[in-house]
Amino acid sequence: KKRNHGQTEFIQAVQEVAQDIFEFIEDKEQYHTAQILRRIAEPDRIVSFRVCWEDDEHNIRVQRGWRVQNNNAIGPYKGGIRFHSSVNESVLKFLAFEQTFKNSLTGLPMGGGKGGSNFNPKGKSDSEVMRFCQSFMSELYRHIGPNTDVPAGDIGVGGREIGYMFGQYKRLTGRWEGVLTGKATEYGGSQMRPEATGYGAVYFLQNMLKHAGHDVEGKTAVISGSGNVATHAAEKIVQLGGKVLTLSDSGGFIHDPDGIDQEKIDWVKRLKNERRGRISEYADHFTGATYHDGKRPWDVTCDVALPCATQNELNEGEAKELVENGVIAVSEGANMPTTLDGVKVFHDAKIMYGPGKAANAGGVAVSGLEMSQNSERISWNQERLGDMLTELMADIHEKCVEYGDQGEGHVDYVKGANIAGFKKVADAMLAFGVV
Ligand code: NDP
Repeated sequence: KKRNHGQTEFIQAVQEVAQDIFEFIEDKEQYHTAQILRRIAEPDRIVSFRVCWEDDEHNIRVQRGWRVQNNNAIGPYKGGIRFHSSVNESVLKFLAFEQTFKNSLTGLPMGGGKGGSNFNPKGKSDSEVMRFCQSFMSELYRHIGPNTDVPAGDIGVGGREIGYMFGQYKRLTGRWEGVLTGKATEYGGSQMRPEATGYGAVYFLQNMLKHAGHDVEGKTAVISGSGNVATHAAEKIVQLGGKVLTLSDSGGFIHDPDGIDQEKIDWVKRLKNERRGRISEYADHFTGATYHDGKRPWDVTCDVALPCATQNELNEGEAKELVENGVIAVSEGANMPTTLDGVKVFHDAKIMYGPGKAANAGGVAVSGLEMSQNSERISWNQERLGDMLTELMADIHEKCVEYGDQGEGHVDYVKGANIAGFKKVADAMLAFGVV
């Protein structure tokens, strides 16, 4: 805590992992002596830089940008870029730390990193976003590369932003190479990448339910967020015969007791991606739906919950409410959406709880496959990638069960994910000696 003074999110993420790892390495001297966990919890490097850009009124604006390269023991650094006013070094360090375990869990050769800026894209024109992205990449380009660090999208960074940044990288270096993932399919993007995180979180849920003798069909789902992850999670729930009751954004949530079907999901995608509007408009458009200003959706009774917005969006009280209302499973599309106290509530209630580092790994897994396709200069079709994603999520679930099985049918998925993710990275680091 002293070393990372004031970095609450980062300390929270390390604490959550440390408990399980200490238990696992208790009788494994090699990991102690080599101080492996301490080494993983100290980023390889953090680059912090000024991002200067001009708005439409010709004002010069100054933002801060970062890239946290946490660990590259098992492959090039890999992890998204986030543009949001809440971005700071602590948030990016927590995300890069989590990413290291997540990427290891996918079984693909990717290390962990994360980057971003406190730039707020809301209300900015296309040209402003373009100028900002170009300025951001004007510094970032010297720290990344297809074999060193391959960023992707995250909150506030979707296809449009990746396009502007990729264009700038290409202009500065004169090279077309697979330096970013989440690209459009016209210029090297992978099929299934936009869907992968949300679909993957539902596949993980499906695997947890199956393991306990349940199914997604007929289940009611409460989902937070209305961005990339949330809308695709909703889509997959609907495809598997479940009923989605809520979506949200930072303003509040909408509750639609009739269920948010595919047509309504498509409407939300257009609202968010084309009009860049607010979720409150949903309740004006669809009869029967209600909007709850300034609230989160966790008091709506449901069978399964998928937090898909942001970190610490589900606290202890809300976790208790979900459990009291009969939730049987929680699968996290977002990164660390549940607070440590909230996780304890799920743990004590012995409900199925899939932490983000396992449940949302489908996105980075397909990013890994995008890297492979770029290296080979080929592209696989939707069906093949869909099958690969399904298989990858089943494998991740299996690894969690292997290390997290508590007997009597209960699996501690947090412990399983932490240990399985740690072991591969730790063994690679041991092989390198002290570096
Ligand atoms: P988007 O920017 O597409 O959507 C984010 C959604 O979350 C929006 O609805 C946004 O509302 C809401 N949100 C953001 N910040 C807050 C906040 N402070 N309080 C309440 N709501 C908030 O991002 P993604 O869907 O890509 O990412 C969502 C989560 O999933 C993040 O935790 C991300 O790290 C994680 N993730 C994403 C992956 C991906 O492939 N995209 C991969 C793995 C994890 P508003 O529009 O009002 O800001």
